[in-house]
Amino acid sequence: MQEFDVVIIGAGAAGMMCAVEAGARGRRVLLLDHAKSLGEKIRISGGGRCNFTNLDCRAEAFLSQNPKFAISALSRFSQWDFIDRIEAEGIAWHEKTLGQLFCDGSATQIIEMFARGMAAVRVEIGLRSDVGEVRRDKSGFTLRVAGTEVKARSVVIATGGLSIPKIGASGFGYDIARQFELAVEETRAGLVPLTFAPHDLAKIKPLAGLSVDAIVATSDAQFREGLLFTHRGLSGPSVLQISSYWREGRAISVDLMPGQDMYEFFRARKSGQGGQVPATVLSEVLPKRLARMLCQGYCGGKTLANLTEDELRGLADLVSNWAINPAGTEGYRTAEVTCGGVSTNEINARTMEARKVPGLYFIGEVVDVTGWLGGYNFQWAWSSGWAAGQVV
Ligand SMILES: Cc1cc2nc3c(=O)[nH]c(=O)nc-3n(C[C@H](O)[C@H](O)[C@H](O)COP(=O)(O)OP(=O)(O)OC[C@H]3O[C@@H](n4cnc5c(N)ncnc54)[C@H](O)[C@@H]3O)c2cc1C
Repeated sequence: MQEFDVVIIGAGAAGMMCAVEAGARGRRVLLLDHAKSLGEKIRISGGGRCNFTNLDCRAEAFLSQNPKFAISALSRFSQWDFIDRIEAEGIAWHEKTLGQLFCDGSATQIIEMFARGMAAVRVEIGLRSDVGEVRRDKSGFTLRVAGTEVKARSVVIATGGLSIPKIGASGFGYDIARQFELAVEETRAGLVPLTFAPHDLAKIKPLAGLSVDAIVATSDAQFREGLLFTHRGLSGPSVLQISSYWREGRAISVDLMPGQDMYEFFRARKSGQGGQVPATVLSEVLPKRLARMLCQGYCGGKTLANLTEDELRGLADLVSNWAINPAGTEGYRTAEVTCGGVSTNEINARTMEARKVPGLYFIGEVVDVTGWLGGYNFQWAWSSGWAAGQVV
């Protein structure tokens, strides 16, 4: 039977960071993954250039039952620490927008950086490795891996969330948490396009492919970024961001003319262009197709001159406070992240060790910490992987 100090399950962002750190401390590390290659999500992230961190990594950019939980790891291994690391490896990067940092070249440079780092500290890697049972006794953990048994003093669960099952996502981490009687916060797809019911979809279908600047809001958050009409509903950065906050049955509101007082806009036009219908006037500032969809049938097609003050206000609301009731999301098939996960109440924020199960650690997306779009999720993976790597 092979024996290790640490077995890490999941060779994604968090698992590889933890492996490099533990290996550098002289620990004998085995990193296992059922996929055939390392860091598949890094490879496909950020359109192939990996949005690896964000310059503005503050606690508010993370969703969790305990939003303060992430602060310890994020401050001890920050975005600046990760930037130092990739610069030391000669990986060039640039800021795209809103503090989002991307590789100038391919995301595979980051995977290769970890592969080199792990080789240097002699991490053993087992790809295409299915982990069966994980048992714990007084001497540590015994894992059944591809028909053989492996012993370890510590086990780190870095298996990520449920998003994109096609490239290896599984509920393994949640199952292990439940096996050891640790609470798991309800999971749901996050950073995911929203879908419409057939009746609403019929109205917006002709707009598929159109993109506009918008503020998208729920009762507890709002984002101003691009909004994209799709064949199924809405997407684009502002919608992906709000999807992590949205809950089934709730409405979202969309301001399609951020920073503009649309009541004043229509009132001014009413005196000069009163003979025109709202859609014509609105298409001065919004794409014609969109203006037509919003105003379709409004007050029986009255011209601006014939609209009352209340009707004018209602018209402004259609643009600045467009209320939408999404039917659902595109689900884990396309979601960038999984919200929820292993409860932060169960984990020591400094070490990532399960409070009730000494030697068992949870890092990365499997934990109930979910970042906004923009590099925050990788930073959480690096920071939490680093934190566990200092102690396992
Ligand atoms: C398309 C896409 C683009 C993204 N782009 C960005 C971006 O640009 N910036 C950003 O910050 N975030 C991005 N994200 C989110 C980011 O990829 C994740 O938050 C991050 O990878 C989480 O790291 P992790 O190590 O916790 O999990 P993962 O990277 O998901 O790694 C988990 C690993 O565990 C393995 N595994 C799962 N189950 C088992 C099992 N039963 N046995 C063995 N191994 C198992 C998986 O094969 C995988 O290799 C993106 C996500 C997607 C899907």
